[in-house]
Amino acid sequence: MAKMRAAQINRPGGPFEIVEREIPQPGAGQVRIKVQACGICHSDSLVKEGHWPGLQYPRVPGHEVVGVVDAVGAGVSQWAPGQRVGVGWHGGHCGACDNCRRGDFFGCTVNLQITGISFDGGYADYMVAPAIALALVPEDLSPVEAAPLMCAGITTYNALRHSPARPGDVVGVLGLGGLGHLGVQYAVKMGFKTVAIARGQDKEALAKKLGAWRYLDSQAQNPATELQKLGGAKAILATVTSGDAMSAVVGGLDINGTMLVIGAAQSMTVSPLFLLSGRRSVKGWYSGTAIDSQDTLAFSVLSGVRSMNEVYPLERVAEAYERMESGKARFRVVLTTGQ
Ligand SMILES: [Zn+2]
Ligand SMILES: [Zn+2]
Repeated sequence: MAKMRAAQINRPGGPFEIVEREIPQPGAGQVRIKVQACGICHSDSLVKEGHWPGLQYPRVPGHEVVGVVDAVGAGVSQWAPGQRVGVGWHGGHCGACDNCRRGDFFGCTVNLQITGISFDGGYADYMVAPAIALALVPEDLSPVEAAPLMCAGITTYNALRHSPARPGDVVGVLGLGGLGHLGVQYAVKMGFKTVAIARGQDKEALAKKLGAWRYLDSQAQNPATELQKLGGAKAILATVTSGDAMSAVVGGLDINGTMLVIGAAQSMTVSPLFLLSGRRSVKGWYSGTAIDSQDTLAFSVLSGVRSMNEVYPLERVAEAYERMESGKARFRVVLTTGQ
């Protein structure tokens, strides 16, 4: 049997271990992907640290996967070897439960599959994924360019396009990290008056480089007051993991405005009176499904949105993961297999 490398976690809190495994065979309804690149997402810490209830070890993390279809299992008619594809967080759903029948695949109650959690992900030379989980990768994107868009990209793009904001409206993007640096770019390209909000004056140059209309330093200014001076935000994309930072900005919402929360903060404070008097809302956003990823990639090609990445070979996975965890990476960390 042909062998491959996989970077797996053997137990909660355990280190990455590069092991040799047999190249897996795709079962019915599955596709095997020769992995070229896989982004390291902060959510991979759920596998590394064992914060996902019921997760079975060993497990290979990775849900920002880009590669080439290598083999297809029985019953797969929509994919063929040689096609360039990506796999994101949403790894599949049953299609038959009530939520699925309503099109809310993320809410599948019977067989919600999450890449790199329910089954092995992309920190490997090959992986097998449900055919339903694949997105087509355009020619114009290299594997390293496309990989971070499969989670960081889709999450910011999909949240923004489902926000109440319309072209010309003020939109705030809170945070300028892995998610935020993409969120600002997408918001700009969607035609919003994009206000980037982060801590420190040193981030202003980056915000402007990414196309932001205004920059707010939340340490020097009250971001909610400043957003209101600009007319109020129809949407605020909250990409940070600090509930305090979210609480400080939510007051910048215009009437009918929505804060879209995509950063996993523990808690935040918001005035119910402020919400009800202006029909405002705070809403969570789930990344999206495979077709949303495909839309994200296509829009990124159309508009020139790209992730800024630090690239490491698969064998340096431990170092690459530490770099992501340090919060110092500019801005996403991507593993490559050399294939
Ligand atoms: Zn992710
Ligand atoms: Zn379902």
